[in-house]
Formats: sequence, C-alpha cells, structure tokens
Amino acid sequence: MKYTCAGHRPGIPDAGISLGPTRLFDIVTHSPEETLEFGRNLAGEVLPPCLVLLHGELGSGKTTLTKGIVAGLGAAGEEEVTSPSFTLVHEYGRENKVYHVDLYRIEDAHDLATLGLDDLLGQQATVLVEWGEKLGDNAMAPRVDIHLEHMGNDERRIIVERLET
Ligand code: ADP
Ligand code: MG
Repeated sequence: MKYTCAGHRPGIPDAGISLGPTRLFDIVTHSPEETLEFGRNLAGEVLPPCLVLLHGELGSGKTTLTKGIVAGLGAAGEEEVTSPSFTLVHEYGRENKVYHVDLYRIEDAHDLATLGLDDLLGQQATVLVEWGEKLGDNAMAPRVDIHLEHMGNDERRIIVERLET
C-alpha cells in the first residue's frame, strides 16, 4: 500500500510486510501553549490522506493538540477549533481538509455506523479522532497514533507513533 500521512519518503520499504509502529516523538510539554506549538510542528507528519488516533484521558490535551495540528495544516486558526464532543464531527479547511472527530459519546457499533466515518476516511483529508480506540477494527493502517498522558499540573507526555501496513 502507498504510504500516507507524509507523502512519499524515499527509503521506506513497500514490500507489503508489517513493520509495526515507529516511535516518532516522546516528549513532555509544560503548558497548553507548548502543546499547541508541538501540534503545529506535527502537521508535516499527518499530511492527507491520514488517519490520526488520539488516545488519553479527559483533560490530557487531545483537543489542545488538535488545535495546533489543524493550524499547522493551514485548515483553520487555533481559536476556530472547538471540541466536537456534542456534534461528534467538525470540518475545517478547503484544499487541505481536516476532520476532527470525538468518539467519547459513542457507545456501540450502531452509533459508529451513523457517523459516516467511512466517507471521511475515503477522502483526501487528515482525520483526527479523539478516543480513537473506539474505532476498533475500523482503524486501518497506515495511520498515526498519539498517546497523551497527564503527568500532574501542566505537564503532559505526548508519544507519537506511525503505524505502517
Ligand atoms: P482532552 O481533549 O484530552 O479532554 P483538552 O485539550 O480539552 O483535553 O484539555 C486539556 C486541559 O489541560 C486544558 O484545560 C488545558 O489548558 C490544560 N493543560 C494544562 N497543561 C497542558 C499541556 N501541557 N498541554 C495541553 N493542555 C494542558
Ligand atoms: Mg477533547
């Protein structure tokens, strides 16, 4: 399968074998601003088409990081990005389309089916999914997994992994 999320990278094998996850970053941020900046700089790793799953408890910084990524992709300003916890999906941008999905309130496969995620994933877009673990088997590779961990006060550990086919 053609590699996605960062365009073509010479040297990456395309032999159809499973390579497992590659750890791109393992960092600690000390403020929301630092997480925003990290998100902006991460945009180059999640170029469309790309599925990005965000994992981490409430308040770990998934939405904050998403604001930075959306801004870095040039799809919207940080202040325009709000949590889709009630609407479930927000759409940003024109040429560089970004979908921001929050599955927190999703309870079962039927809920998931009504979201039309297949349509989103079939597009030339970056699809950022909070509570991405709820996608289950729908989470295809290649993709990027981001794990956020609350370390106390304003510290957040952020691990970014690329999963190839
Ligand atoms: P989630 O989407 O995972 O529930 P949010 O991004 O909505 O998390 O909320 C994170 C909260 O933590 C915000 O209130 C933010 O101001 C605060 N915060 C404190 N320190 C950080 C940090 N280093 N990175 C991100 N958010 C932080
Ligand atoms: Mg959130």
